[in-house]
Amino acid sequence: MPDSPRPPSARPPSVDALARELRDVGLPHPLLVDAARAAIAAGDPWSARSRAEATAAALLGPVVNATGVILHTNLGRAPLPVLPSGGARRYSNLEFDLVGGKRASRSDHAARLLALAVGAEAALVVNNGAAALMLVLAALARGRSVVVSRGELVEIGGGFRVPEVMVQSGCALVEVGTTNRTRLGDYRAAVDEQVALLLKVHQSNYRMVGFTEEVGVAALSTVGPPVVADIGSGLLDAATPWLAGGPPAWLAGEPAARQTLAAGAGLVTFSGDKLMGGPQAGIIAGRRELVALCARHPLNRALRPGGLVLAALQETALAYLRRDGDAIPFWRMAAAPVDGLRARAEALGVGKVVDTVAVAGGGSVPGQEVPSAGVAVDGDHAARLRAFSPPIVARVHEGLTVCDLRTVDPADDPVVAEALAACTS
Ligand SMILES: *Cc1c(COP(=O)(O)O)cnc(C)c1O
Repeated sequence: MPDSPRPPSARPPSVDALARELRDVGLPHPLLVDAARAAIAAGDPWSARSRAEATAAALLGPVVNATGVILHTNLGRAPLPVLPSGGARRYSNLEFDLVGGKRASRSDHAARLLALAVGAEAALVVNNGAAALMLVLAALARGRSVVVSRGELVEIGGGFRVPEVMVQSGCALVEVGTTNRTRLGDYRAAVDEQVALLLKVHQSNYRMVGFTEEVGVAALSTVGPPVVADIGSGLLDAATPWLAGGPPAWLAGEPAARQTLAAGAGLVTFSGDKLMGGPQAGIIAGRRELVALCARHPLNRALRPGGLVLAALQETALAYLRRDGDAIPFWRMAAAPVDGLRARAEALGVGKVVDTVAVAGGGSVPGQEVPSAGVAVDGDHAARLRAFSPPIVARVHEGLTVCDLRTVDPADDPVVAEALAACTS
């Protein structure tokens, strides 16, 4: 709604009177008072309404992702399977053994199912992938040293740098090899009684090509100390048994939890909301005694997730165990055939149908393109689309506004059609 024009002889209204005029914006009174006060302080009381509306629009809420980036970190990475049923809204058996009637562990639900899904003896869930690595290092290597290849001292983004995480966890970093080449002999030469772990970190968000060499988990596990692999993206199984068509071509080379453990890793750590397609979480999976050390460490209490996350994770894990990739929005979107996307684009009846390139995103499978389709309209309408309800986030490319349908829920197609039509009329 446009701001009301200033009446010629009006005196500035009181904060309270102004806030009361904004009631229809639908925000709690203190937020309206805040908007009114800011408007008066700025010498422009008539801006109170647009300030209140901006506050309402900035609240956490759903958006339509038309960017073609399936795991968009700014848009909350993976959308969740379904509204979690298990214990999200009511009391739950989060830490209660219903048979014995006594206290149990919150690791008995999702963590146990995920261990089964990746063929691990045990698993533990924490708040995110960064927390998982931090807890593993603190629990298994505090006061000792950890060997890492110089090619894997990476920054993942958001300030997560492997050498700094090491310092925070109280372990000494032993760098081996060079940026582009590290050999098994480099690890062997570095191992002494101070070394608690060999750490392998997946170069999630970039790719090194050319004169390179790295040591795989199978070879590393012959050296002696337990191998911890931070695989990052959380692909559970390279064979993707939850997809009828098998692994898509763009997944090539992405490490998977099941195969990394089978190759001899003592533990793997990964995110819940990247290729796993669940809620924000970090998963530690592997050998029982190593997981138990992590579970017993005091940091675990500080890093443990709440029932809401565990309920959503349980839904995700059950879908994997049922081999039902369709029930996991990430995989449903990632595996959708391009023909179907083109047909949906035609059906929108606005703009022109274009071939596009989607990506998995979230720092996984860098450089791999997922063929996709969408619609394009002339001009830059990105800001107008973001102002829609629900907001639509699109891409602008060479003077065209492009909506990639791979990341749009088909249920939102009418919203996209209506918004694009409004932009172009
Ligand atoms: C993404 C990533 C992390 C961080 O995981 P979050 O869930 O974002 O905290 C850590 N290590 C690797 C290799 C990653 O790809």
